[in-house]
Amino acid sequence: MLTAETVGSILHFESDGLPVTSLYARVEPGAGHRELHSRVSSLLDEIRPAAKDETVEHEGRLSLRDDIAHIREALGEEQWRPGAMAIFACSGHGLYQEVPLPLPVRDRVVVDAIPFSRPMLAVLEEYDRCCVAVVDEASARLFELYQDEMRDLGEISDPKLRKANYAAGFTEHGVHNKTAELRKRHYRHVREQLTDLLAAGGYDLLIVGGHEYEVPDFIAQLPRDLRSRVAGTFAIDPSAMPLAELRSSATAIVDGFELGRDQQLVAEALERAATGGLAALGLPDCLWAGTTHAIQTLLVQDGASAPGVVCDESGWLALSGHTCPLCGKATRSTPDVLDELVQAVVDDSGSVRHVRAATRLDDVVTAAELRFPVPPRPG
Ligand SMILES: [Zn+2]
Repeated sequence: MLTAETVGSILHFESDGLPVTSLYARVEPGAGHRELHSRVSSLLDEIRPAAKDETVEHEGRLSLRDDIAHIREALGEEQWRPGAMAIFACSGHGLYQEVPLPLPVRDRVVVDAIPFSRPMLAVLEEYDRCCVAVVDEASARLFELYQDEMRDLGEISDPKLRKANYAAGFTEHGVHNKTAELRKRHYRHVREQLTDLLAAGGYDLLIVGGHEYEVPDFIAQLPRDLRSRVAGTFAIDPSAMPLAELRSSATAIVDGFELGRDQQLVAEALERAATGGLAALGLPDCLWAGTTHAIQTLLVQDGASAPGVVCDESGWLALSGHTCPLCGKATRSTPDVLDELVQAVVDDSGSVRHVRAATRLDDVVTAAELRFPVPPRPG
């Protein structure tokens, strides 16, 4: 299972000048190994010349050659899950990391001074860590849903009235009251467990399933902080609970929730920019805001890319320019300055969201919420 530590180690990897190989390959469900093999081989062919390039330092060439050999070897041995595989390698510095991704990404290989992480981040950020609670009258099952994987988190069960109690001399009214009281106690128990779980497990969203006549009652009794994390509810018979149905209901809720959030975030960013708030709109302004460490939240249109330049000395990011206006050093061109921007924002502990929904972000590519007003752009 992919951990935050793995992702962090890739994002903060220092190659000390050695080339880093980042390779992304789609893994089609049901497609043959040969098809994948030939696609990855041709990706590796793209970078083979760099491994022989005499202008690259000897140590760098050697590292790159080992990267190619290592990836080729992994391809021969392993069974990759459908979706995509991301591989980050810098053999000369001990980096070789495979990251299976649950969604297909574009085939791509990049050799650069830093890992090319944006496609990986784009996929991972589409996935909230969700807690799914299926609640019944006197029992509840909890699951984790993350990246399409469901994990059982356990069961909560509480006492309920058995049929025998009817014969024990309760009046009808008494039975009814007792049942309601037990249910209330059970809901409170589930609520407490959920509060602990969400506090400890870092869950972003809560999804609740159960009998149609029971779920609204349960939701109504949640404290506000839990209720605000409810992404949706679904009807299911908790006694049967087909897992496939459970998963597809929960996944559909998360997908819909995410698209809605995309639209909301873009609308807020545009509004902030229009009213002269702390915002940057469009690539030139966002690149400058990234350079000045001002970005709190960056919205990027998913799938967009743009060539540009970077100053490795001062961190200046722009669409063009041979010389850095901040320090006077020569810039480095990059095939995708958006990736550099994302890295800069991540390094500044800002957050990045790749927007998949169709919104007006399509026109401007990037929008950012800022921490402070940025100085005017140089030049
Ligand atoms: Zn500079």
